Amino acid sequence: KKWVYLFEEGNANMKELLGGKGAGLAEMTNIGLPVPQGFTVTTEACTEYYNQNKKLSDEIIDQINNNLVILESKCEKKFGNAENPLLVSVRSGAKFSMPGMMDTILNLGLNDETVAGIAKSTNNERFAFDSYRRFIQMFGDVVQEISKDKFDKILDDAKEKNGYKDDTELTAADLKAVVVAYKKIVKEETGKDFPLDPKEQLLMAIEAVFRSWNNNRAISYRNMNDIPHDIGTAVNVQSMVYGNMGDDCGTGVAFTRNPATGQKKLFGEFLINAQGEDVVAGIRTPKNIDDLKDIMPAVYKQFHETAELLENHYKDMQDIEFTIEKNKLYMLQTRTGKRTAAAALCAAVDMVEEGLITKEEAILRLDPLSLDQLLHPTFEEAALKAAALLGTGLPASPGAAMGKIYFTAEAVCAAAANGEETLLVRKETSPEDIEGMNAANGILTARGGMTSHAAVVARGMGKCCVAGCEAIKVDEAAKRFSVGGQIFNEGDYISLNGSTGKVYKGSIKTVTPELSGHFGKIMEWADEFRTLGVRTNADTPRDASVAVRFGAEGVGLCRTEHMFFDEARLPSVRRMILSDTKELREKALAEILPMQKEDFIGIYKALEGRPVTVRLLDPPLHEFLPTEDKDIEALAQDMGLNKVDMLTVINGLEEFNPMLGHRGCRLAITYPEIAEMQTRAIMEAAIEVKEACGFNIVPEIMIPLVGINEELTYLDKVVRNTAEIVKAEKKSDIKYLIGTMMEIPRATLIADKIAETAEFFSFGTNDLTQMTYGFSRDDAGKFITDYKDKGILPNDPFQSIDVEGVGKLVEMGVTLGRKTKPDLKIGVCGEHGGDPKSIYFFHKAGLSYVSCSPFRVPIARLAAAQAAL
Ligand code: PEP
Ligand code: MG
Repeated sequence: KKWVYLFEEGNANMKELLGGKGAGLAEMTNIGLPVPQGFTVTTEACTEYYNQNKKLSDEIIDQINNNLVILESKCEKKFGNAENPLLVSVRSGAKFSMPGMMDTILNLGLNDETVAGIAKSTNNERFAFDSYRRFIQMFGDVVQEISKDKFDKILDDAKEKNGYKDDTELTAADLKAVVVAYKKIVKEETGKDFPLDPKEQLLMAIEAVFRSWNNNRAISYRNMNDIPHDIGTAVNVQSMVYGNMGDDCGTGVAFTRNPATGQKKLFGEFLINAQGEDVVAGIRTPKNIDDLKDIMPAVYKQFHETAELLENHYKDMQDIEFTIEKNKLYMLQTRTGKRTAAAALCAAVDMVEEGLITKEEAILRLDPLSLDQLLHPTFEEAALKAAALLGTGLPASPGAAMGKIYFTAEAVCAAAANGEETLLVRKETSPEDIEGMNAANGILTARGGMTSHAAVVARGMGKCCVAGCEAIKVDEAAKRFSVGGQIFNEGDYISLNGSTGKVYKGSIKTVTPELSGHFGKIMEWADEFRTLGVRTNADTPRDASVAVRFGAEGVGLCRTEHMFFDEARLPSVRRMILSDTKELREKALAEILPMQKEDFIGIYKALEGRPVTVRLLDPPLHEFLPTEDKDIEALAQDMGLNKVDMLTVINGLEEFNPMLGHRGCRLAITYPEIAEMQTRAIMEAAIEVKEACGFNIVPEIMIPLVGINEELTYLDKVVRNTAEIVKAEKKSDIKYLIGTMMEIPRATLIADKIAETAEFFSFGTNDLTQMTYGFSRDDAGKFITDYKDKGILPNDPFQSIDVEGVGKLVEMGVTLGRKTKPDLKIGVCGEHGGDPKSIYFFHKAGLSYVSCSPFRVPIARLAAAQAAL
């Protein structure tokens, strides 16, 4: 079996086997770009390594050695040779990019002899020993798991002893002494001498990279990004080039377009006289790529052309790493650039307009869930004007965030778990901080550039981030930072604007964003392709108008009970529930009627004639009753009862299992007058708005929780009678529809019968999932995590539809329903209506529309278009 590939043997399509980095290096090699030569040990070798109990097989080792010989002859250098040594970098690279999550080792091949060869060939002893000490430190850290601090301390001591400020002041002699001290640490910590045989170093490094696939941060990164755990990483062994041999050298990272905004302009940073990781690690603040034009015009021109070539070749924004060694450009990596949702949109639209990709490709390239980032609030302008500016850093990842500051990932996670709004503040972040970054509203760092760890990871997460805010002096140990003479302690509020880089004192109010031009364009294209309708779940005129702004084509579910919870209305609602005679109940209902009607009028107006489905009261009645003593007493007084009698009535309404109890259509069967009142409110509101505004309104009245055909036929009569009475009273010829929820498994099984009465269906996949699994939707969260961890469920069926089981009921409901009424309008209004994966399924199942919360509407439009393509 082939476990190792020379770069020239691979190509861009071999990501699975060679990892993203390996495939990119192979592709660049084959299009003739200047890539330092090397080879890739495959992801299959990684899996094999784990299968063999973390051991490299002889066959893999042989292939590594054989390829090493080829590499030596290509580079005309020899591994371990004192005169002309080959040095390599060893880097991880999985199929999916996991920036900074796994390990890298540079300068491998250095030992006491080869260091002399490097000193001689570069005519730079200092450089040689600096590389050597870096190598021992990296090797010690990554391969031998020796704490970095131990090495740092030696370096710091050496600087202090000599009164130096910068690493660069250390002389060759100083560095030689550091090397000796480093080796001593290795001996102390591992009980063995530092390995001097380069081949041994190489095999140890490769194994260490394979092991790093399963370090904690890599595992949590994969969990967060839905990357499978069993695909392994490849290892790239590549001959070293040096960006740190002098002022005619450098290293950098650049994107072919701006990864924060999408603007088509080379965007990146570089450092003169620096090595690979220095830019990304945020240790020195790098220069803008534009400045390279003045410093090294020829190299800049070549890089610019290469970047353009790569973007045209891959037809997507590239994230490119390069090194300049003595004025010669080398490409070290190219990959699809991670970008913010705004940048993704902008680049996709621009690329269509540039003729680089088609509209379909643009649609398919976007992640529907990421649109969420564009819909979230920004700071309210007035509040922002009044806010006190503390400092300005780099606008590393856009959006607005406010919260209490915390200085460690653990503290943020703990506070966020308590429901606090939090921000993570660090000198600079490292991959260990990833969970804290995920939990926080936003991230602030004092050091590092636009391609620093914090910036890259935050953009990937769509999280607001201000990086490199140098005005802020962070003292992580004391849990505070100071800026301009003010001290901010853990728990104090600040606000961050990731779009401008500004940091403010206190918490600033936020507002809903405008939907920009690129956004509108993508939505317009999505609408061209999709066949599935998109409605919204909205219970208030305000939600309804937000949803319309986001492109909702109607209301798929108006949960009327939410209108009952309003404080001003609760007394009437409670009297309605607790009345022991029909007369009293009707009196209370008469009080509620105008309020319900007012809500419907607002929603009809917001929808401007688009369809609105209103569902009759659904939850068990006791949910509306008071639980606190003082409220119970007030209610007793209001109803002229003593407290004991009041409690007896309230307790009488309690149920062992309310979700399976007296709720949904069962309520209206017991108390038809509730359905009558609601129908009257719906019809009167519709007639009034129709007449006043000229909208062609056809109210859709929906009966929940039907499982027995006769439930529907009974209530259909009640609703229809009332509707006809209202029409006659108002002398209106308004049309209306009466339909039902499909949320009880039994209903889907007899959907053909139900469709004889129902004029539309709407799948309530929340209840349908609850009752199909027999999982309480309110309690299942407790154990679903265990189910996922143990591989019993792939994901939470309340979030993403269970195609195999619940999906089968949906399909059956659709087929049977349309057997009776071929044109039956069928929607879905459970949470799944806003979940892209579920939307793909609903499209296939032939539904007419999905209905989701307002902020999910654009996501659903895009997902529906993707489903259709
Ligand atoms: C459902 O059950 O999916 C539904 C939309 O209704 P509710 O969530 O209000 O029970
Ligand atoms: Mg339901």
